[in-house]
Amino acid sequence: MDERAGSTIQYGGKGAPERPLGRSIKRGLLCRCPNCGDGRLFRAFLKPVDHCAVCGEDYTPQRADDLPAYLVIVVVGHVLMTGYLLTDMIWRVSPFVHMAIWIPLAVLTAIATVQPIKGGVIGLQWAYRMHGFSKEPEHGDPSA
Ligand SMILES: [Zn+2]
Repeated sequence: MDERAGSTIQYGGKGAPERPLGRSIKRGLLCRCPNCGDGRLFRAFLKPVDHCAVCGEDYTPQRADDLPAYLVIVVVGHVLMTGYLLTDMIWRVSPFVHMAIWIPLAVLTAIATVQPIKGGVIGLQWAYRMHGFSKEPEHGDPSA
């Protein structure tokens, strides 16, 4: 029988410090360092810091790429479409009034949510030791 059956997978190798997924994502959503929870995660709107100013954790390996934008589209799209459909059922107004309400609201909501969502994605990657967060070479990494 496989001795690994039933055991928990420990990313980053045995003895690596635990990185709770929920806590890491929550700290990222708050734009805080997923490791210590105190340091800032962003140096500009969508530019993460290279290293945490408090604990020194390296954030250069993060590869959030397009995932935050996709998640913003999913979240904002569902919330605003629900709002649009509900108001359209209650108040019959012209399509131009809807556009005047929902387009600016969509832009503002997307701008307000993309940074916390990117922080959450970085927290997820950090917790799962994805990319360079594991300190071990990845499979197929030509620099390894
Ligand atoms: Zn930190």
